[in-house]
Amino acid sequence: MLAVSPEKIIDGRKIASNYLEELKQSLNALQARHVTPTLAVIFVGDNPASRTYFKVKEKLARELGIRFIAERLPQDISEDTLLSKIASLNRDLGIHGVFIEFPLPAHLRAELIRAAVAPAKDVDGITPENLGKLLIGQEGLFPSTPFGVMELLRKSEVILKGQHAVVVGRSEVVGKPLALLLLKEDATVTICHSRTRDLASYTRQADILCAAAGRPKMITAEMVKAGAVVIDIGINATADGIVGDVDFVTVSEKARLITPVPGGVGPMTAMIVMRNTVKASQ
Ligand code: NAP
Repeated sequence: MLAVSPEKIIDGRKIASNYLEELKQSLNALQARHVTPTLAVIFVGDNPASRTYFKVKEKLARELGIRFIAERLPQDISEDTLLSKIASLNRDLGIHGVFIEFPLPAHLRAELIRAAVAPAKDVDGITPENLGKLLIGQEGLFPSTPFGVMELLRKSEVILKGQHAVVVGRSEVVGKPLALLLLKEDATVTICHSRTRDLASYTRQADILCAAAGRPKMITAEMVKAGAVVIDIGINATADGIVGDVDFVTVSEKARLITPVPGGVGPMTAMIVMRNTVKASQ
């Protein structure tokens, strides 16, 4: 394997750790008011990537002093039972944040489940209300993964104004909100998806390339402009372990900056969930 020079790597773990102090101070202030921020995480089934990210959040919450409630539910849970569970967490005054691990098993309608979370407890920022607020530029709980990407870019001092950002993926929770956040920072944004013809002709134009397609190593070196900033959002469980959407070894040769998987966007997403939990408790 080729060695990647460390200055090219956007180290999500390191950047996320910078938020620990700030969050601990907010937590102390809340504790002085006898409020213990409490996060409930729903994990249906046993998807290996979800299990990893569930554990990351659990560990981080404990480290910060956020109460973590694990709601592990069986793979074959019915939609009605899951909706009742969410409704009871919404009603519980002792719970400030509700997070659902995706993907859900195929028999559960993700849109319906997402919309069931109370917007004020939606620490993943995925309800129609919070996504709508993002669209019109109002303050709300921002979607954790796209917002985490923006924080990584900001902390890495990547200039966005006037730059061409290409987002591969148009999901409601990652691709679309990320495109909106990049647009808000005056990037010129192109969104690509599974029906885009000649994907490489777009990705090669990107000053900032964000891959969120859920396709292992689909972004290869030929698809990347020399000197681009490459953000890999993909988390794919393969026989070789967890890999991103970017072929890290070859693409890192061409990129100016790149996020690894794991250790890039994932830790930042978890930190934004904690930050949103503190915000929801306030
Ligand atoms: P999703 O809902 O499955 O959406 C995938 C998107 O990628 C769709 O818009 C799809 O296009 C597009 N796509 C699929 N194959 C493509 C191809 N060959 N060429 C171009 N576009 C293609 O997934 P998601 O929830 O957005 O998640 C995307 C990835 O990010 C997954 O790997 C997920 O595990 C990961 N993720 C990571 C974090 C984190 O914290 N790092 C958080 C959330 C998700 P169509 O719309 O045309 O189908």
